[in-house]
Amino acid sequence: MNGELASSGSAQLWERALKAMPGGVSHDGRFLPPHPTYFARAKGARKWDVEGREYIDYAVGSGAMMLGHSHPDVVKAVQAQMELGTFFATVHPLEIEWAELVQELIPSAERVRFTASGTESTLLAIRTARAYTGKPKLLRFEGHFHGWHDGVLLGMKAPFDEWPSLGIPDELRSTAAVAPQDANRVEEMLKADPAIGTIICEVSGANWGSVPISDDFLRDLRKLADRYGCVLIFDEVITGFRWSPGGKQKLLGITPDMTTMAKIVAGGMPGGAVGGKAEIMRLLDPNVEYKRYKPAVAHKGTYNASPIVSAAAVAALKVIRTGEPQRQADSVAKQLRAGMQQMIDELGVDALVYGESSTFTVYFAKGARRGSLASISPAAIRGSLNRDSLDIYTNGLRRRGVDNMSFTGGMTSLAHRDEDVPPTLEAFEGAVQDLLD
Ligand code: PLP
Repeated sequence: MNGELASSGSAQLWERALKAMPGGVSHDGRFLPPHPTYFARAKGARKWDVEGREYIDYAVGSGAMMLGHSHPDVVKAVQAQMELGTFFATVHPLEIEWAELVQELIPSAERVRFTASGTESTLLAIRTARAYTGKPKLLRFEGHFHGWHDGVLLGMKAPFDEWPSLGIPDELRSTAAVAPQDANRVEEMLKADPAIGTIICEVSGANWGSVPISDDFLRDLRKLADRYGCVLIFDEVITGFRWSPGGKQKLLGITPDMTTMAKIVAGGMPGGAVGGKAEIMRLLDPNVEYKRYKPAVAHKGTYNASPIVSAAAVAALKVIRTGEPQRQADSVAKQLRAGMQQMIDELGVDALVYGESSTFTVYFAKGARRGSLASISPAAIRGSLNRDSLDIYTNGLRRRGVDNMSFTGGMTSLAHRDEDVPPTLEAFEGAVQDLLD
């Protein structure tokens, strides 16, 4: 890192960033008043800021660093590829090995096409699904996040019938229907609107599971998609390779028609993938039945499956498939969930801790301690802390050496250890006290 930058604190860097970048950030979610923390390096389950302070990291690269930061196998593979060339803009053997690993692990991935991000994966999957069914409309769920392209923004956050961004033509409204996580309602909508041909679902529940979803609901979606001739897309950008080596679909035994992936699939590097039934994915084949060497569905992307990303991905997926990262990460997350709930109960705070797999989320609201998760509405969970309180909570954790992911939760990785639990709980207690003050 540049010495001048390293010697300035986060507050000074923020001042400088504001003059060079809108809002000082490259992602809306990185904005954190009074200023974000600037990080200089990371290793395993730890990160260090530019002033040398150490943090236990539960942001884990927005879920991407399932093996922890700078896992030795990934570092070695990337370094070796650096020597051989980072980017050829053509086909290369490593991308085949990467695709074969995805095929082996993800049940629905009969064929695989690589992209450069999760946003590109959902864009491509939805386009391909529309081409396959010939139906223009997408059904998606309230609050589920599928990236930031125009096609998935309606319904991304409440109020669900309003665009969450300027700059989108209102004509696009007719291309998407927004449903609650309620199978009866989904069936009514499918019955009433034959233009709906694609269903996409964040299988963790909205926002990496910060709003829970039931397994039965996912089973119902499979049945409804079959009954109404829809392509079912599971967005496993978060759950893929985390909930199990084969994603949430393998864990539950529910196979969608298509799967969108990113983050862990690319070993924490910028990359993504779409997997799906061969019959659907052949629409991406430039040569099979379209002898004009023109695919039915257009897909380009300079950096798709670049050698450097492929090298990281192959190295990471070989560790992922052992099941050890999931076992370790789940075990630490389970201890965190139990410890946080115990602390909340001791403090007498109205809050409920929940999460699946290697995630944890704290829901703050009146009566939450006594209420079961099922009795709490998704809307209430999402709004459990207002913006100011959320900033107090997040900054409260950071001041005490813990960085969480988003909202009131985080994720663990292969690198997290039992010893990380007590200091995390101590920081959590302090952040909750800050909220009470
Ligand atoms: N889908 C889900 C479920 C996600 O969580 C995300 C990102 O967090 C995306 C899609 C978009 O991925 P990316 O940020 O790589 O564009």
